[in-house]
Amino acid sequence: MSEGGFLLAPLDGWAVALERVPDPVFAGKMLGQGIAIDPTGAMLVAPCAGEVLTIHAGRHALTLRSDDGVELLIHIGIDTVELGGDGFAPLVAEGARVAAGDPLIRFDLDRLVQRAPAVVTPILVTGKGISVEPLASGRVAAGEPLLRWTRDAAQAEAEAGGDVVTRRATVALPHGVHARPAARIGAAAKGFAIVLARGDKQAPADSAVRLLGLAIAAGDEIVISGYGAGVERALDAIAAILGEHEIDELASEPPAPGGTLPAATGGTILNGVRAARGIAFGLVHRLQAAQRVGDDQAGDPLTEQHRFDAALDAVRARLRANGGVFEAQAALLEDDELVAAVRAGIDAGHSAPAAVRAALGAAAASLEANGNRRIAERAADVRDVERQLVSDMTGASAPAAAEVAPGSILLADELLPSDVAALDPARVAGIVLARGGPTSHAAIIAAGKAIPMAVAFGDSLATIADGTLVGLDADRGTLEVDPPGERVTAYREALAARAESRASARAAAASPCRTADGQRIELFANLGGLADAELAVAEGAEGCGLLRTEFLFLDRASPPTREEQRTQYQAIADTLGERPFVIRLLDIGGDKPAPYAPIPAEENPALGQRGIRFALANPALLDDQLAAIRAVVPTGRARIMVPMVSSVDELDAVIERVGPGFEVGVMIETPAAAMIAPALSRRAAFLSIGTNDLTQYALAMDRGNAAIAASLDSLHPAVLALIAATCRGASTSGIPVAVCGDLAADPLGVPLLIGLGVTELSVPAGRLGDTRAAVARLSLADARALAGQALDCESAAAVRRLVEERGW
Ligand code: PEP
Ligand code: MG
Repeated sequence: MSEGGFLLAPLDGWAVALERVPDPVFAGKMLGQGIAIDPTGAMLVAPCAGEVLTIHAGRHALTLRSDDGVELLIHIGIDTVELGGDGFAPLVAEGARVAAGDPLIRFDLDRLVQRAPAVVTPILVTGKGISVEPLASGRVAAGEPLLRWTRDAAQAEAEAGGDVVTRRATVALPHGVHARPAARIGAAAKGFAIVLARGDKQAPADSAVRLLGLAIAAGDEIVISGYGAGVERALDAIAAILGEHEIDELASEPPAPGGTLPAATGGTILNGVRAARGIAFGLVHRLQAAQRVGDDQAGDPLTEQHRFDAALDAVRARLRANGGVFEAQAALLEDDELVAAVRAGIDAGHSAPAAVRAALGAAAASLEANGNRRIAERAADVRDVERQLVSDMTGASAPAAAEVAPGSILLADELLPSDVAALDPARVAGIVLARGGPTSHAAIIAAGKAIPMAVAFGDSLATIADGTLVGLDADRGTLEVDPPGERVTAYREALAARAESRASARAAAASPCRTADGQRIELFANLGGLADAELAVAEGAEGCGLLRTEFLFLDRASPPTREEQRTQYQAIADTLGERPFVIRLLDIGGDKPAPYAPIPAEENPALGQRGIRFALANPALLDDQLAAIRAVVPTGRARIMVPMVSSVDELDAVIERVGPGFEVGVMIETPAAAMIAPALSRRAAFLSIGTNDLTQYALAMDRGNAAIAASLDSLHPAVLALIAATCRGASTSGIPVAVCGDLAADPLGVPLLIGLGVTELSVPAGRLGDTRAAVARLSLADARALAGQALDCESAAAVRRLVEERGW
């Protein structure tokens, strides 16, 4: 006898077969039959009428009994239990009766995309004897028919014997489950859907990466579960591996020449996103959030207004003196609305610090709630200004000013730009953040100070105690917890090699940068403001290859005046002395929003009005900037660089506006620009490749999306081919090609770029020494041969192997 019913789609999205869900528990149907939806909407609704049985404490999953008698499990995303409820808002309570289509859980899809391994949502019909027939494929809207289920009583009885089988094991492996045991467990599990659980975390036995993520250590109790005929033998074999006592030595990889750290394969490796290059190892120093000064007494409103005014003046003066990204923060203090909100709080009887917290806290929260990640990143600046004002009024110290033992790795939820600016690189070996963005101001300051930094680790940092030994490979965006002895040696050796080559590079800083066989390569610095310029000169920069002028323009209510701009540009020019100085025209829009910029909400901001497209559409802004650059003395001193060009018309329009007497160069950031390099070269004085954007556009991968950051690799042969095309194009007019994107600061990128024909590298000030050393190690002839081979590689990984094997 059989019975059945229907489910409607509980989400907008794309219907996906359960087998394709990237989790063997669901794909192996260990929890039930069903289908999955890759959501495009952010509201989960009831797929049928019934009763809500349970809502998981993590708010990401619920069970429902349908009125026609089956139990359903809906699980939003994969491994979303890790989020601890963050981003989920249940709209019903357990025990509630719901009709089909009633809202169940609202969730923050953007946050899930960034923080969960997958957002695909399984919808399961649990119980024995169930079979399902999908009624949807491809795009589906909430409320449309999704699947038909039937239950066969005889089959249910037959299946009753096929239950999940479990084993328990206590781990005896001295180093826990690192790469080698993980591989053996995977082999033992072959052909079965087997899951290992440690506490409430689980991982499929056949995914070494996920197993390593469980951080299984000696002494842990592990539950091993599997399903299917004959699974017992596999479970026993896995239990036996976990119970082995022998020392399973790690193969110790020799450190690659030039201070390249071999990728970690053992221990516990946590994955984040690179924010500032470098490696470090040391003991964890956890930073707590700033102390809130709770019991600050409000004086009379007039006194409090004076207190606020004094703090406003002091903080503004400090920020202005620092220049660069702090100019942008200073501009926040000119925001009349914000200042008025603080004053209104004081008039309502609050103390000045309390009024500042309320007004700036609300402003930061509304930025954070913005769907655009880059705008949300700017909230850190508002919070930073809030804290500086409050500290000034109360004397409360910033968290980063706390005593940090030399060589520490700082672990924090988030750091504000002023925190990073206040860090002493002699004490802080590295920075690891649970949140934060790779393009944040804090990241740019860390790179300038040569402090390696990786971000977006999420909750995985929560359990790392103060004083834990960790290894940070910020180049790869990974954190290794409790690295075994061999890895510690590898970190030490890689660091020593880097320090040595940096020291000899510094010693050679006074002489021009050259390859081992004497080819001259110009070594320039990327600057965000005056403070960077001072550091760059001290580190031996031969000039500035990129001034990111947008720091002057972001985070403020109105654009900077001509005079404000001129003063900044002149101060940097004076610091650089005779050295070449390339000023990039305003590059806002896309990932760099400015509140006053008249850019309507765009579906794809990275493909919309940004860079020169925005500037040409807003000629008053462009002309102000050009006038400020033209006013820098001596005249003609500053070169002008045009960002985000994709056609000769754009370049012609800028050249016409600039007028005679100035060199105008083009950033090659779009595949189109690389392809028309010959035509651009006929008009331009130089080309400079922005590999960050060129990679983003060549690979069609958002450079700010943490979920795909690991694949966003500038060593991709397609990116190299575009660089080669750019160099060929420039050679037809005999103009030089520079690289000012991140690849120029990558020790693996340097030989390839030079081999492809690049003659100028522009890198963050903190990377000048390492880059000079990377150039000095290679010979032009070898680099050319290597670049030729790299162009023939099939993948970024193959290119990486090729260069690593070459050992530069
Ligand atoms: C680039 O895109 O590589 C570049 C240098 O510009 P930005 O990172 O400022 O977009
Ligand atoms: Mg760019």
